[in-house]
Amino acid sequence: MIASPIPAVSLIDSLQQYFGYSAFRSGQEAVIEQALSGRDSLVLMPTGGGKSLCYQLPAAMLDGITIVISPLIALMKDQVDGLTRQGIKSAYVNSTLPQTEINDIFKRLAAGDLKLLYVAPERLTQAYFLEGLSSLPIRLFAIDEAHCISQWGHDFRPAYTRLAQIKHWFPHIPVMALTATADVTTRKDILSQLQLNDPYIHLDSFDRPNIRLTMADKYKGTEQVTAYIKKRSQDCGIVYCSSRWQVENLSKALASAGINCAAYHGGMENEIRSIVQDNFAKDKIQVVVATVAFGLGINKLNIRYVIHFEPPRTLEAYYQEIGRAGRDGLAAEALYLHSDSDAEKILKRIESNENEHKREVEKQRFNSVSDFIQAQTCRRQVVLNYFAEYTQSACGNCDICIDPPTTFDGLTVAQMALSCVFRTEQKANADYLVAVLRGQTSEKISRNGHDKLSTFGIGQNKTPGYWHAIIRQLIHLGFLQQDISQQSALVLTEASRSILKGEQPLLLAAPRLQKASYWRQSNS
Ligand code: ADP
Ligand code: ZN
Repeated sequence: MIASPIPAVSLIDSLQQYFGYSAFRSGQEAVIEQALSGRDSLVLMPTGGGKSLCYQLPAAMLDGITIVISPLIALMKDQVDGLTRQGIKSAYVNSTLPQTEINDIFKRLAAGDLKLLYVAPERLTQAYFLEGLSSLPIRLFAIDEAHCISQWGHDFRPAYTRLAQIKHWFPHIPVMALTATADVTTRKDILSQLQLNDPYIHLDSFDRPNIRLTMADKYKGTEQVTAYIKKRSQDCGIVYCSSRWQVENLSKALASAGINCAAYHGGMENEIRSIVQDNFAKDKIQVVVATVAFGLGINKLNIRYVIHFEPPRTLEAYYQEIGRAGRDGLAAEALYLHSDSDAEKILKRIESNENEHKREVEKQRFNSVSDFIQAQTCRRQVVLNYFAEYTQSACGNCDICIDPPTTFDGLTVAQMALSCVFRTEQKANADYLVAVLRGQTSEKISRNGHDKLSTFGIGQNKTPGYWHAIIRQLIHLGFLQQDISQQSALVLTEASRSILKGEQPLLLAAPRLQKASYWRQSNS
């Protein structure tokens, strides 16, 4: 290993000269020193941590060319535009460029007229392209979004696996792999597949303390999301769903509630997708309802909230997705609307995977999501532990820290709910039951005469969310069952008798939703 020939002071000068920044962010300086000294590296920094600078500054300083492998065309273009504005000569090559332009770029490379070249991974695996590069003074390879190399990562891209070629063709040129997301397995995968040689590993803190982690029960998802967004009419956000169908569905519902939103998923035409991305970046669209296809390359700093309308497949994906909020460092919120039935659906989908190995891996990964959902202690600690970043102290900025779980003597409310089930002849589903408990009339309720019941309105001082949470617990505890053959009608069980008679004590968890600050005003 050659010691860095460039003293730190000149790095700061270069930082100022090329980018106009006065200080490095955590980790940048060491990573840059290592790259300049010719060492391979793996750089793990959270989204917004400033990964790009780690290769852009060396690229500007080095006498030669830096090749950046990047998975997304939109992202390449953004970066090249940005660098060009800074006066750092750069270009990109991807499938949208005609061959004549690619030839021009190679001419500029040969003439020493370019410092950085961005390429898609597919390109780099073509022998003719590598051959073209091999006659040029390449000084550094940077592989952005390096987790795409791992099959077990959430964003696997087959073309990435062939990036091992780099070390065959250019054994002595340093490779810098960068990612914002990599659990321990993915990290190992990156190192071995790229064949990094004695790499310098920078593992930054993954903590994003400005993002409040909030989990709430989902019982009327669309209405909850609508209320949440309407209360933040000045703020931009993303709502993630797990299917294209749900994206379309929810965005239509939000739009008809008067919310300025757009859908985004992989089934839409590229052109429309980039218009959505662009308008969101320019604050012309307030909310994007999206699948995970909306992710890489969102270069927007003022996203104030990210809502998970359905569960993510892995905790890593969750963290990556919420990491798009609050990149300006100001307060932001990640709201996860949890429903057991959504989680069961995901599990079923995982179970139906025919590849046994993959099924097991996915199950394990989804278990980490379950741990997070069921956390009884600081949620941030749960996530950070998953990234092997152990912290002793609770964060003070998640729903558990702000509003620790408590239990209460639930016998009376359970009796209210159960006797209402009995009086509605065990034909009411949860929505109907809650309406009766809260004394809300509807055509159906009066037709059934249920507005005359003694239990009609006995629970009117509690929110719908409160009652749904109680009912869910009564189901979990075996005091109620849902009869699927009868539109999920709630029916009593043998065990519910002792509750109705008051023969046993009953502790229930205080419903969390009722206390969540964003929900309190609209619903109480
Ligand atoms: P990442 O790729 O890690 O998500 P970026 O490289 O896009 O993050 O950087 C996020 C933002 O931080 C960019 O606007 C970038 O210009 C800015 N930035 C990076 N390094 C510094 C620094 N040392 N000082 C000030 N701003 C920085
Ligand atoms: Zn916490």
